[in-house]
Amino acid sequence: MLRFAPSPTGDMNIGNLRVAIFNYIMSKQLNEDLIIRIEDTDVEKNIEGKDKEILEILNLFSIEYKSVMHQSDSLKYHQKMALQLMTQKKAYACFCSDSKLDELKEESIKDGKPFKYDGFCETLSDETVLNTNAPFTVRIKKPEHNIKFTDLLKGDFDYAPFDVDSFIILRQDKTPTYNYACAVDDMIMDISLVIREEAHLSDTPKQIHIRESLGYTKEIKYVHLPIILNPLTGENDTSSVKWLIDEGFLPSAIANYLVLMG
Ligand code: GLU
Repeated sequence: MLRFAPSPTGDMNIGNLRVAIFNYIMSKQLNEDLIIRIEDTDVEKNIEGKDKEILEILNLFSIEYKSVMHQSDSLKYHQKMALQLMTQKKAYACFCSDSKLDELKEESIKDGKPFKYDGFCETLSDETVLNTNAPFTVRIKKPEHNIKFTDLLKGDFDYAPFDVDSFIILRQDKTPTYNYACAVDDMIMDISLVIREEAHLSDTPKQIHIRESLGYTKEIKYVHLPIILNPLTGENDTSSVKWLIDEGFLPSAIANYLVLMG
């Protein structure tokens, strides 16, 4: 099973479309189904109507899929599995405030180091947790061993526990963070191959760590597609697909162009 997992938080750009096209091509080649998963768990960033717009664009490009699901419909699984991780002491309640975390982030910027959680709430006793009357997030413990994986395009990767870190899986309102929802859904949807943009490469060890903590042993293969650069600026080209269509470019020409860059 393959999936295309857009976030309804903005216009679909050519990078997103290329990911959709490659997923479609590979699903045909492997003779496996393709599912569209709308990643709508970050409620504040969602833009109404963007999910429909994405599906209309897929339709325009004749990208066929088996079904569409909204990630927010799986909330009960995300929460149940977080509870399992807490019961097994693989995750814990974190009461650290945003201002404390911001301070830690500022300190790490000053020291020129990447931000890592200081682990304070991992040391709290059950009694302290029970007696603390404050909102909390749920954090997964960092792994005990290195997380290794192979990207089919980019080769082998090896992340130390320190790099994966102890990170938030449920927000204070108990909705799942991106990495957590994505890792759980790829597991429950029985995904075999993930094709997505390079920006998500550093998310992969976190997602593997989540599934390993949940006891899932099946390997998911990964392909992270290089960024499409704008030749004039040298930066990520985020041209909107809708804009290109409005400018008069034919879907078949856009698709041909994107596929030839792969
Ligand atoms: N929702 C993510 C995005 O739009 C995709 C993440 C993924 O494919 O795992 O960038």
